[in-house]
Amino acid sequence: MTRLECARCARVYPVDQVRYVCECGGALDVIHDLESLRPALSRALFDQRLRGAPCPHPTPVSASGVWRYRELVLPVRPEQIVSRPEGNTPLYHHARLSSWAGLDKLYLKHEGENPTGSFKDRGMTVGVTQARCLGARAVACASTGNTSASLAAYAALAGIPAVVFIPAGKIAAGKLAQALAYGARTLQVDGDFDVAMRLVRQTCDALGVYLLNSLNPFRLEGQKSIVFELLQGLSWQSPDWIVLPAGNLGNTSAFGKALVELSQLGLIERVPRLAAVQASGANPFYQSYLGGFQRPVTVAAETVATAIRIGAPVSYERAVRSLRSTNGVVTQVTDDEIMDAKAMVDSAGIGCEPASAAALAGVRRLVAEDVIRADQQVVAVLTGHLLKDPAATVAYHTGEWPRARYANPPRSVPAEVNAVRRLIEDLL
Ligand SMILES: *Cc1c(COP(=O)(O)O)cnc(C)c1O
Ligand SMILES: [Zn+2]
Repeated sequence: MTRLECARCARVYPVDQVRYVCECGGALDVIHDLESLRPALSRALFDQRLRGAPCPHPTPVSASGVWRYRELVLPVRPEQIVSRPEGNTPLYHHARLSSWAGLDKLYLKHEGENPTGSFKDRGMTVGVTQARCLGARAVACASTGNTSASLAAYAALAGIPAVVFIPAGKIAAGKLAQALAYGARTLQVDGDFDVAMRLVRQTCDALGVYLLNSLNPFRLEGQKSIVFELLQGLSWQSPDWIVLPAGNLGNTSAFGKALVELSQLGLIERVPRLAAVQASGANPFYQSYLGGFQRPVTVAAETVATAIRIGAPVSYERAVRSLRSTNGVVTQVTDDEIMDAKAMVDSAGIGCEPASAAALAGVRRLVAEDVIRADQQVVAVLTGHLLKDPAATVAYHTGEWPRARYANPPRSVPAEVNAVRRLIEDLL
């Protein structure tokens, strides 16, 4: 039977109980009974589901890149599922980006190509489905932006009211627009993400509102499917490394759990190493890593990559476990490195938001430091869409970002044909 289990003291709770943390304060995991699932699950089963999505009327269960792996996500009846559907994101391979990173072969798993433009959809389809199963009156989250955009969309789809807490003035335009447009009750909190997070935790319980922060263990179950899908995309042959940006550490936690489960089920032969990348101005996990994970660190976070501007990561303990079980590493990159990496991804015609580019910047740094070898196979996860943060992109290209190495500024030209011709000649 699927159950909730404390990551710290191993105490067990039923999945249909509204509970976000253990009585001891530890984070909870959704635990599946892998031994009893083992005979039914195989690469062939998942491959058949991938090929077999019936057209023209696919159901969430057949069409979603999350619910394809439903036995390892959440056992629910198909009619309970709230799905766009999400997942089925591309795995790009791009020669110029590979060589910029210093690698023979780099893959980019683009989670920004989910329905609302970030990987948060993979967690939210599960979280809102669970909220519906629990009969929640409303759902809520604190967010640096993408979580609120995704929650707002899935709640609207399910017909459940959503309340989102966002740090005033610290959210990218695309994300705020989505929360408002999808109809979420949007509270702009006078404080940073960490303040908003504390407030939402203090208010939800009293009001019977279901909390869907990354603390929520069901969201992490959905996010595991990034790893399931990327491995399936590589014909179940493990890469050497999976590299991802790290903020609240939900994905870092989910990735490690996914890899351990796949390995226990015999679906992969080798566990790839995880590399979590932080912005140097928001690097509490990196600092803990340098100290051998003796203790969690808290910082006042500041970075252009708003999606990872987190000073007190919610999923610290579960992420440490992921790093240990995958022989993982943590690194940090500067905002300049992030924005230059973003410009590379963007000018390849792929595009991503700043936090996502931390993954590519991190690969480049780890190759330069000889942690990753040039001949190793690496998958970097791009977490969010280019259009999420237009202000950062425009600032980079128009000279407001002083150290931009790859700026592509717009040019002014008089409305006169010879001047236009001369300018185009110059530019080509
Ligand atoms: C949420 C988010 C992250 C950070 O993921 P965590 O699970 O909080 O570590 C990174 N990039 C984007 C685009 C995000 O939306
Ligand atoms: Zn406990």
